[in-house]
Amino acid sequence: MTTIKLHNTRTRKKEVFAPLDQDDVRMYVCGPTVYDRAHLGNARPVVVFDVLYRLLRHVYGPDHVTYVRNFTDVDDKINARAAESGRAIGEITAETTQWFLDDMAELGVLEPDHMPRATQYIPQMVAMIEDLIAKGHAYEAEGHVLFAVDSWREGYGKLSGRTVDDMIAGARVEVAPYKRNPMDFVLWKPSDEGQPGWESPWGRGRPGWHIECSAMAYELLGESFDIHGGGNDLMFPHHENEIAQSCCAHPQGDFARYWLHNEMLQVEGKKMSKSLGNFFTVRDLLDQGIPGEVIRFVFLSTHYRKPMDWTAEKAREAGRTLRKLRKIAEGSERWSDGVDRYHEPYEDVVAALCDDLNTHLAIKLLQDHADNFESSDDSSRLLVTLDLLGISSSWRDAEHLHAEHLYKEQYQIGILIGRMQEARALKDWKTADAIKAALVEAGVELKISKGGVEYDFGWDFDPAKLESLK
Ligand code: AMP
Ligand code: ZN
Repeated sequence: MTTIKLHNTRTRKKEVFAPLDQDDVRMYVCGPTVYDRAHLGNARPVVVFDVLYRLLRHVYGPDHVTYVRNFTDVDDKINARAAESGRAIGEITAETTQWFLDDMAELGVLEPDHMPRATQYIPQMVAMIEDLIAKGHAYEAEGHVLFAVDSWREGYGKLSGRTVDDMIAGARVEVAPYKRNPMDFVLWKPSDEGQPGWESPWGRGRPGWHIECSAMAYELLGESFDIHGGGNDLMFPHHENEIAQSCCAHPQGDFARYWLHNEMLQVEGKKMSKSLGNFFTVRDLLDQGIPGEVIRFVFLSTHYRKPMDWTAEKAREAGRTLRKLRKIAEGSERWSDGVDRYHEPYEDVVAALCDDLNTHLAIKLLQDHADNFESSDDSSRLLVTLDLLGISSSWRDAEHLHAEHLYKEQYQIGILIGRMQEARALKDWKTADAIKAALVEAGVELKISKGGVEYDFGWDFDPAKLESLK
């Protein structure tokens, strides 16, 4: 069996991954709160853990992996969105959930085996909270139920490596008179009439955020499972609180054994934020014509534990590389006849992924194989390797990237380049530059050298813009 190594946040070490049950490898990843379109940063953990899911399926078999990713559909941000828009909460969460699934599918993301919604698990959350109260780990105060961090001082803070006192000093904790310790966090809170609420032993109310992951992971994966993932911004307090709840409710279990956290995404070297004007959603990029696999490829080019920088230049570069890879993949038998034949992905690429998901290296190796390929057998291996990385899923539809289908456009570009070269020969730089700028604007990539002009179609190639150049 191939050995996978993963960096475990809990031990701060890269460890050999040994699942509890090779026939049922279990992974939980915190999913989105559904009140708005996913921004580009939200997509990073989704893609990272999709690669891990694909790798686990490759190593243990597709029927031997259970992947759970939740939807948080009860949250004050959703309530606020409903209040400001005058729309029903259920309408907003249903619409946003579908947007999320559609956008992630465009990035080649497989659907997890289970996608539980928090509102479907309220009774399980209530039962877990009752259990925590009975065991002395939680208490009721003024219609709220709070987790008592002092009841589990030995474990609280271990994941992020902090003591309770450090956390109090460093965190923005909500101070409330009914809390015994400022770090105590909400398991249940009362709802006003206008807010969503469920009957409970503590009156009509709704769950705090953290309890949903503990309850749903227990229900779907049991008291001990293998991998828990999410962005590193969730490590504290969300994951720390999940651990406290689950380990105190089920002291015989380990909860999650390997904790994986991805680093954040930035845009052109800066934090993505609305105030900096560099905030965009996945859908914004797709609408600009950037294919999903280009976005995915850019994501994979940075290791998940490093901050990743999204730049327009990286997207262009990824588009070029993908076109090259695609040309080779098209030489495979499967491409031409659509029949799946058994081929193993390149071993060195698999080995890179097994080394703590080194997608950066995997992609480099893939490019080396592309540069040195020799036969249609190589093409088939390239294609299955791309499948493993989840890159090739939508290629058959991406005909606009396919130069062979663009006869008319090639003819037009040929004429324009001819005119540009004539102008250059006459030293009419103004005309030459104008034609060049127009071609670039239409998404044509030009390589001008002494030997002549070569070109390629960029992912943003727009035939309509070429039309207007006549
Ligand atoms: P939020 O929308 O903040 O609730 O985040 C939902 C998910 O997206 C969480 O797993 C976060 O860790 C992740 N996330 C949010 N912002 C970023 C970012 N800039 N880069 C990477 N992941 C992010
Ligand atoms: Zn969670």
